[in-house]
Amino acid sequence: MSKLDGKSFQRLVSAWRYNSFGHHKEDGLVLYNRISMCAHSCDPTCCWSYGDEDAFVLRSRMALDKGDELTISYLQDEDLLKSTAVRQQKLQNWKFTCMCPRCSLKVDFGRGIRCQRCRVGILYPQASNTSFELCRVCGSSPPLEDIAMLLHMEEEYVQRVDSLDKKDLEDVQQVYQAALDIFENHWILYVMDTILWEGHRQKNVMDAMEHQRRRIDFHQHYYFRPTFILAWCHEELGDCMMAQFPTRKWHIVQEFQRAYQMLAVLCGSTHQYTASPYNKLWQVSNGNSTPATNNGTADSAAPEAGKQAS
Ligand SMILES: [Zn+2]
Ligand SMILES: [Zn+2]
Repeated sequence: MSKLDGKSFQRLVSAWRYNSFGHHKEDGLVLYNRISMCAHSCDPTCCWSYGDEDAFVLRSRMALDKGDELTISYLQDEDLLKSTAVRQQKLQNWKFTCMCPRCSLKVDFGRGIRCQRCRVGILYPQASNTSFELCRVCGSSPPLEDIAMLLHMEEEYVQRVDSLDKKDLEDVQQVYQAALDIFENHWILYVMDTILWEGHRQKNVMDAMEHQRRRIDFHQHYYFRPTFILAWCHEELGDCMMAQFPTRKWHIVQEFQRAYQMLAVLCGSTHQYTASPYNKLWQVSNGNSTPATNNGTADSAAPEAGKQAS
């Protein structure tokens, strides 16, 4: 075996460390011969899941042309909904600065602040943090002396939300209510909506459903492509609807259909994740009977065939 000098060894260890995936069942890292070569994007062209016999499956989730780059997200779905600055910060774990299309936008639409003047419109800061877009409702933008104050207040809320104790729902609720006065379409509201949805879903399902609806709205506003969390938000909302308002069939069907269609894109129409909303759709449409071919797969008889990534 030829000798490896210190520098090459360091490179090899770094390549292993920064291109591996955590093993999904055991401790340890796994390096794949092809998927590990994929670069990161906050708007990745591909997503991955585990298929039969633990196969690592990479799927495109949008139309690709020959030569297009296959990218994946190194961040979890939840983190893709955080501001550009936060995503960039997290990606420092991999020691690079993301230059993806979302990180290159001039305005960050995940950091909305209520217009101070009309209180109806929403202001979005420039990525440079030096000014805000004009309010689309009243046409004003905050004067220079207010910009620093608004950004400082935002920073304080970010830190407050970062340090929230998820179990102290009363405290979360208070911070949330105060934040609603200042922010709209802001990722910190999404973070609190998630905590409040999870905290309330057992005992206060009506409030929980409202938070879930707001999570979906923010996701669609800030990042419109299908993700597993968005699909499951719809499925969980469908579950709640079915328990609370079983007669509102049109609404329940909508939620399960969205979940089914997104999961078909993300992991294929035969994956067990996709079969779950599919089977529920079947139940809503056909009373409580289970599909005739209940083999755990969604087949071509789906109520509305899911859009397949090409
Ligand atoms: Zn990015
Ligand atoms: Zn305004």
